[in-house]
Amino acid sequence: MLWYTSDALVRLSCGDGTSRGVVKLNHIYKQYAQGRTIVTALHDVCLEVGPGEFCALMGPSGCGKSTLLNVIGGLDHQTAGTVALDGRSTDDFSDADWTTLRRECIGLVFQAFHLLPGLSAAENVALPLLLSGHSGGRAGRLVAECLDAVGMRERERHRPGELSGGEHQRVAIARALVHRPKLLLADEPTGNLDSRQGAEVIALLRSLPRRFGATVIVATHSREAAQQADIVHGLRDGCLESGAGSATL
Ligand code: ADP
Repeated sequence: MLWYTSDALVRLSCGDGTSRGVVKLNHIYKQYAQGRTIVTALHDVCLEVGPGEFCALMGPSGCGKSTLLNVIGGLDHQTAGTVALDGRSTDDFSDADWTTLRRECIGLVFQAFHLLPGLSAAENVALPLLLSGHSGGRAGRLVAECLDAVGMRERERHRPGELSGGEHQRVAIARALVHRPKLLLADEPTGNLDSRQGAEVIALLRSLPRRFGATVIVATHSREAAQQADIVHGLRDGCLESGAGSATL
């Protein structure tokens, strides 16, 4: 079943929906111009992520992990190559289409949490729903369910300043889940956490395919985090190394 909910996006996309990869990258290159220098952040990356997979992109700082996640989520665009989501090419997507797709179908989690300090945990989680015009009882139920799912219901009235780093990230994950995305992209989600809180956050992310039916892609430099994944793709200098089961790490 297609996970796009927007008719406009389905109309715009030109694939036939028959390829079953939730994410399929074909020969992706990404170059940045820095003055007269060209930095190649991604070099001929081909990747397919299947439905319900928990996949890790692993490699040292600067190897291209964030760039790759940004290209998958349409936050940045490749210099060459194609990105297909659920078998449909995104080549023709405008920035507005990507914004709609992220609002409806993709959840984003960042190392720096990005919670709004003046809002409570529940208000932070509700924000994506409000931005898409949803409010009232159903929105309240979705927020409560997501806070429950991340173990933060009892802290729903707390503001970020009253929460630990791990609790920040739990709220940020609840916010990413509140519109029930089929794809969740997490960029170094444990980078600002101690090892215990980091392990708890990875265990939470690991449970999302089963509990929410989401496909999860995590960018990490942490071997411990990557070991929880169904499949690990190593990145080195912008090149993808062949995927391996986490048991081989
Ligand atoms: P990682 O997430 O693995 O730390 P990044 O994807 O952030 O790596 O960066 C990959 C490479 O691309 C690095 O060499 C980085 O300096 C470069 N890079 C990333 N973003 C930009 C940008 N906006 N302008 C120029 N170079 C960039």
